[in-house]
Amino acid sequence: MAVHSSNIATVLESEGVEFLLSGDTRVPLLSCNGKTVCLYFSANWCRPCKALTPQLVRLYEVLRLEGKEFEIIFISFDRDEEKFNEHFKCMPWLAVPFDANLHKRLSDMYRIDRIPSLISLSSDGISIEEDLVGLIEDYGADAFPFTNKRREELKAADEAKREGGKIEELLTHQGRNHVLSSDGREIQASQLVGKTVGLYFGAHWSPPCRAFTSKLIEAYEELMTSGDQDFEIILVSTDRDLKEFELNTSSMPWLAIPYQDKTRQDLCRIFDIKVIPALVLIGPNGKAISTNGKAMVSLYGAKAFPFTEARITELEAELRKEGEALPPQLKDLKHKHLLKLEMAKAFVCDYCQKQGRFWAFSCGVCDYDLHPNCVEKSL
Ligand SMILES: [Zn+2]
Ligand SMILES: [Zn+2]
Repeated sequence: MAVHSSNIATVLESEGVEFLLSGDTRVPLLSCNGKTVCLYFSANWCRPCKALTPQLVRLYEVLRLEGKEFEIIFISFDRDEEKFNEHFKCMPWLAVPFDANLHKRLSDMYRIDRIPSLISLSSDGISIEEDLVGLIEDYGADAFPFTNKRREELKAADEAKREGGKIEELLTHQGRNHVLSSDGREIQASQLVGKTVGLYFGAHWSPPCRAFTSKLIEAYEELMTSGDQDFEIILVSTDRDLKEFELNTSSMPWLAIPYQDKTRQDLCRIFDIKVIPALVLIGPNGKAISTNGKAMVSLYGAKAFPFTEARITELEAELRKEGEALPPQLKDLKHKHLLKLEMAKAFVCDYCQKQGRFWAFSCGVCDYDLHPNCVEKSL
């Protein structure tokens, strides 16, 4: 059944509801008129609901403080009235009195197929079609008044930050124009203008991040000591708390977005970071070059600088040429079997014991690898 009236008072009245609850008090249905109303379908037994509720409480308080005409109405999927009361106790907004049959009808009416679910009925009668949970998780109170228009505006603002060519806008906001150095000093973000910047999304608790951090430090230090590279890395931490963040940054020679700052979440959203570690590279013109910096650094280290497609093509061509100049197989004085030329992601040379990557002479019979330079050819 389609919902034609966005006026929730009318809808509830026609369903036989006489009043709403605000804590222990009854309030008239009409108290929501003229406001942007969100229906919150939720239950005490539902773990994602319990995680979302405190987030919604913060959003509610922020919007109320800003004087926004906003209300949430809780529609309970709880199993009984006792559970409903327990659940409603942690909500500062209104609720439809507990009535299992009514809740069923309302959830059918609004086509709720999972909880938590949040439906917006804005005062102008235009409601967002989709569930708001994702929008609110992404943007918090900025998502108000939860219309499609607002969603488009927010997306356009993200797009402008990603493509707008202004590194400062990407890393700072009105209340903060600096990033932090590893020893806690404030570094003006304006100092990053014109540099190639790597945004490193990572967390100390993640072993793959710790492994990548050491590779990245190697490349970073090589680029920094070479002196003439305008390069910087900014940690965008996904650590679980401040202590972990501090532990994480203490091992890093580069800069970081302050932990208590929502820019961290904004950047994750803007660059659609789903897995860590991730390295997003911003060119000297302030525009994103690549979100695949992790693979570039893992493969080529500092050589990948300035991380452009052209540079990677160049490196690949160099490698191909190098391989073409080498014999496809040979016999080495130190080893009894024939060795074949292979492309290896990583190996340890059995002669000099150092790490190698790319071209290697490898034995097909036993585990034996040599750097091309460590070969002593026998005839
Ligand atoms: Zn070697
Ligand atoms: Zn062998």
